Amino acid sequence: MLVIANWKMNMSGKEIGAYLDRLGREDRWARWASSGFRLVLCPPFVYLEALRSECRKRALPFDVMAQNMSSWEKGAYTGEVSVNMLTDLGVDGVLLGHSERRRYFGETDQTVAQKVLLALSRNLVPVVCFGENEEDRRGGSSSRVWDAQVRPVWEVVMKARQAGYASPVYWAYEPVWAIGTGKTAPLVEIREVGGYLRDNFGVSCASGLLYGGSVTDESVSVLQDGALHGFLVGSAFLDPRCVIRTFDQLCAGS
Ligand code: PEP
Repeated sequence: MLVIANWKMNMSGKEIGAYLDRLGREDRWARWASSGFRLVLCPPFVYLEALRSECRKRALPFDVMAQNMSSWEKGAYTGEVSVNMLTDLGVDGVLLGHSERRRYFGETDQTVAQKVLLALSRNLVPVVCFGENEEDRRGGSSSRVWDAQVRPVWEVVMKARQAGYASPVYWAYEPVWAIGTGKTAPLVEIREVGGYLRDNFGVSCASGLLYGGSVTDESVSVLQDGALHGFLVGSAFLDPRCVIRTFDQLCAGS
């Protein structure tokens, strides 16, 4: 199970140090990791390298992923960060197609698919975000939206598989109406998404399903379900105490 902290455009170098200090006072990380519960930290680009080396130095078994990358391989794209730059840093994966990228930076289903293909071609694990907004949900068109977002990506995943690139692909179902609102999707709807992935793209696709949207240490146990391979957490995981409480809940009995 992957439990991903998306810090978005938050945290300073000093705050990251304090965050790791707090996480480091917990002594169950190795046990949790060996039971299959992995914490993944997604800092802003500028902190990727330092965070990765700090985790190693402190023997904290966390993965580090980027929050985005360019759909271009290289060239005159001021301000962009390429797939090769991420692999150079040794990051474990990359979030792609987050709804904030789609909404504020005009990312389309096609650019997300291009990014996924690039990531897979460099053996970087993509976590592909998708999900309907409130209006889609009210209008009964959620599954049409999932399909528009997932299908073009699935086509490139198939292409990459045929070319021999075997990195896993995770699908983060993040209904836009649940992000940062305190409302989580009902389990029955999350299972419906799992069913949609399984029926359209097969069991291997559905087995990489994560859920994101107002997950906290309080809501996580209700959401823990066989249909899910993990969670993507935003604001709640800016607090390291909440990360520990969440793992405590998830790993109880393991
Ligand atoms: C997110 O933006 O990916 C997210 C899940 O945010 P939050 O947990 O704050 O709803």
